[in-house]
Amino acid sequence: MSKTYLNYINGEWITSQSNETMVSKNPANYTEEVGQVQSSTSDDVNKAVTAAKNALKGWKNTSPLERGEYLRKAADLLEERIDDIATTATLEMGKTLAETKGEVARGVAILRYYAQEGYRKIGDNIPSAASNNLLYTTRVPVGVVGVVSPWNFPIAIPIWKMAPALVYGNTVILKPASETAITAVKIMEAFAEAGFPSGVVNIVTGRGSRVGNSLIENTDVNAITFTGSNEVGKNIAVNCIQRGAKYQLEMGGKNPVIVLDDADLDLAATLTVSGSMKHTGQKCTATSRVYIHESVYDEFKEKVLAQVSKIKIGPGLAEDTYMGPLSSKSQLDTVLSYVEKGKEEGASLIFGGKTPTDEAFKDGYYVEPTVFENVKNSMSIAQEEIFGPVLCLIKVSNLEEGLEQANDNAFGLSASVFTNNLGKSFTFVNEIDAGLIKVNGESAGVELQAPFGGMKASSSHSREQGEAAKEFFTSIKTVTITPVQ
Ligand code: NAP
Ligand code: MG
Repeated sequence: MSKTYLNYINGEWITSQSNETMVSKNPANYTEEVGQVQSSTSDDVNKAVTAAKNALKGWKNTSPLERGEYLRKAADLLEERIDDIATTATLEMGKTLAETKGEVARGVAILRYYAQEGYRKIGDNIPSAASNNLLYTTRVPVGVVGVVSPWNFPIAIPIWKMAPALVYGNTVILKPASETAITAVKIMEAFAEAGFPSGVVNIVTGRGSRVGNSLIENTDVNAITFTGSNEVGKNIAVNCIQRGAKYQLEMGGKNPVIVLDDADLDLAATLTVSGSMKHTGQKCTATSRVYIHESVYDEFKEKVLAQVSKIKIGPGLAEDTYMGPLSSKSQLDTVLSYVEKGKEEGASLIFGGKTPTDEAFKDGYYVEPTVFENVKNSMSIAQEEIFGPVLCLIKVSNLEEGLEQANDNAFGLSASVFTNNLGKSFTFVNEIDAGLIKVNGESAGVELQAPFGGMKASSSHSREQGEAAKEFFTSIKTVTITPVQ
């Protein structure tokens, strides 16, 4: 039997009151069990919330520099365990070891960035109409923070939420995605060993509909930071509004790229392919639609197909794999159903679209890199988030037409344009509906010290990462001090 991992509540590793566990399976070989985690109940959540609430008073009154020291220790421990944590993440959700190692390194860098936060300013001195008054702002923690995270970035996302929450003096309960809950427990082991006082950081694993929901509904949880699907996100927003809690949602994307007639086509093809196929397309910022100027369409398409045809599919642990399996059966079913929908709605499938038939892939959730052309902007494959390695090629006659179609979508997370024309680059930056914009870069990814987040249905319009995280994880107090003469 595989190893069973525990919840971490109030400084102790404990089993759930349910006495039930959930199995985590390897999507590269679904007969293989990676391990088991606690299938927790609302009682476990309530216990963690009480612990976090009790720990808050002491924690928020520590020096921010001292809080930063704990983050630094957690970073060092994660760095030592990079191989184990990356391997676990690859086994749980399928992406390649290079990708999961990169994610651990990112997590370490995020912790080190926020470890310095105590040195940065948290308020403003504002001129007062009364000449003697001192009018200023300061910031205080929001309180008990519930972190609900997805499986696609099982290391970086929990850390980019927990690190700023903790350094600003909040206490945390992490509810990770079930598919990658062991990875999350291993991250929590590093936090636990870093010596945070009991109750400051906690993890409760279990089903979203039970554990996630109890966290969201608990009136002692002052804020929820969530990354995941729009469906769950909307429910969180409604719930938090009703009980006056703060919330932050990062959700889906349907990220466009525009390739203009003067673009470096080799660069555009390379970054379009990596943007759409790396992580097996399971990034919220992945490229999914490309609007290509008609005069370079054929040449660009050939370059994309030449690269896609070289993509090596395989288990994430194999060194030469470019694209691992999808994370689960439901991901595979969704991707294949969109391929069918694309064909039914009249798009032309020009590459992939199937599960590979090779015997080596029979027990995994593999899908081929997939490219459609003759895609109309109104088709489901051009409008809805697929969350898999599926790319739509769409011909346009100029930048304006590309922008109009790129913006004709519910989402607004990331976008890029390939051109050397400065004026057109600025037009793109001004007009595109996206929170993350690249000129001659991949739509996916942004540096950790910069704000991350989307427009329209992609986000609740706040931003994560860097200095921007301060807005969510603190509340402003405006103070007026009047000296009495
Ligand atoms: P998901 O189903 O919404 O799950 C996200 C988290 O919510 C998981 O921890 C899940 O737990 C939990 N959850 C599920 N039902 C819940 C409920 N009723 N109440 C409270 N929590 C609940 O999303 P996913 O499938 O894991 O992730 C894929 C989605 O995330 C995609 O749409 C993608 O675009 C989005 N994403 C967005 C960003 C961004 O920054 N914009 C980044 C990465 C991913 P269980 O695992 O136990 O169900
Ligand atoms: Mg799994």
